Amino acid sequence: MSDKPFNLFEVAQRQFDRAADVLNLNRPTRDLLREPVREYHFSIPVRMDDGEMHIFRGFRIQHNDARGPGEGGIRFHPLETIDTIRALAMWMTWKCAVADLPLGGSMGGVICDPHDLSLTEQERICRGWVRQISRNVGPVWDVAAPDLMTGSQHMLWMLDEYETIYGLRSPGFITGKPVGLGGSLGRVEATGYGVIIAIREALKDLGIKPEKTTASIQGFGRVAQEAIRLYQRLGGTVVCISCWDQKDRTSYAFFNKNGIRLEELLPVTNSFGDINRTEAEKLGYECLPGDAWLEQDVEILLPAAIENQITSENVKNINKRVKILAEGAHGPTNPEADEIINEQGILIIPDLLANAGGVICDYFEQVQGNMNYYWKRDEILGKLDVQMTSAYLSLNDFARKNNIPLRDAAYIIAIDRVAQACHERGWS
Ligand code: NAD
Repeated sequence: MSDKPFNLFEVAQRQFDRAADVLNLNRPTRDLLREPVREYHFSIPVRMDDGEMHIFRGFRIQHNDARGPGEGGIRFHPLETIDTIRALAMWMTWKCAVADLPLGGSMGGVICDPHDLSLTEQERICRGWVRQISRNVGPVWDVAAPDLMTGSQHMLWMLDEYETIYGLRSPGFITGKPVGLGGSLGRVEATGYGVIIAIREALKDLGIKPEKTTASIQGFGRVAQEAIRLYQRLGGTVVCISCWDQKDRTSYAFFNKNGIRLEELLPVTNSFGDINRTEAEKLGYECLPGDAWLEQDVEILLPAAIENQITSENVKNINKRVKILAEGAHGPTNPEADEIINEQGILIIPDLLANAGGVICDYFEQVQGNMNYYWKRDEILGKLDVQMTSAYLSLNDFARKNNIPLRDAAYIIAIDRVAQACHERGWS
């Protein structure tokens, strides 16, 4: 095993190189697409509630905008690194291209831990982030959205700061806004529902009925909660969930062989998606080490927490019964584990497709904002279903014809589309 620290951007670049070889891309196109077109790194001075000043590091990475304005989340995480954000920005470019949206790829973040920050401190970080980057983002250039540990309230503070700076109303600056203030109905559900729509299509292909399946999930945040809701509606049973415990600074898995019940777990879960261990045990859940989510005797594994969770060390613990691994999180499976899982015949629905529901709904939010006309929830979820299903079918079709995994198909289709746009613009 190498001692080199894990670097998500190197993983993203290796994945890119493989697809670039298949597509036989020329040198300028490779050089252009292997790196972000623009990077912004900055300091955000924030006065804390106790009166002390604290300097946070913020980023915005614009990977590629040949197919349209950048779109991508803003993450708050204490272990955030510039290379993680670079990788995520690159993946946003490919994800928008897989879903055939007229958008490019960006990602941003702030190194901070909202668990330890008051709401007013978080508000100042949001406003500080906008003050540093407002000249380089915007509705027709690069649009931000919620991601890990940020939500609609953060988006609204950011929008308010942007509109204050420019002295105008500009709802297209950001997506994931609260409903009633320019946000789209269905955004909360979109990513989690999208994952389950992709799983539903994959199960059809495998000839398995959803009601005959069980699932184990890493994460209990917005993506996981909504995924559970739709999966249970299809008749599936979730037997295990793992999430972070801030007090013990480790993760735990909560197990119930008869199936977890959302309505009893949500009241004992904080806004970060961390379940209170003591309360869950009182409800009868068995508390296991965090990694136990991967070892369950289930048909479906759904990582929906953070990156680099399935590795060459723990991949051997995946149960023989597993048929589908659907990547709700960005980059949860590292390349070594990916190869082993493919060899075991488990179908991986790659993050580029599995979690695309969020960005599809962000696109719907932009369209509705431009029209100043807002669709009903059912209309949005219907459009989401059409878009996710058709992305899955075209990927699956390509993968079958070329006898390659869905992940390779996603990379080849996406990179080809983006390379074509760069070529036609005269960039390569
Ligand atoms: P969230 O902040 O709402 O929830 C994160 C969950 O992960 C929480 O339950 C937390 O307890 C858990 N977690 C954190 N660290 C963990 C660890 N080490 N072990 C186990 N559990 C851990 O985040 P979210 O919005 O649900 O996003 C989850 C993932 O999905 C992220 O990778 C994000 O980038 C990706 N994603 C989110 C969206 C979106 O629309 N929110 C869209 C696309 C992709």
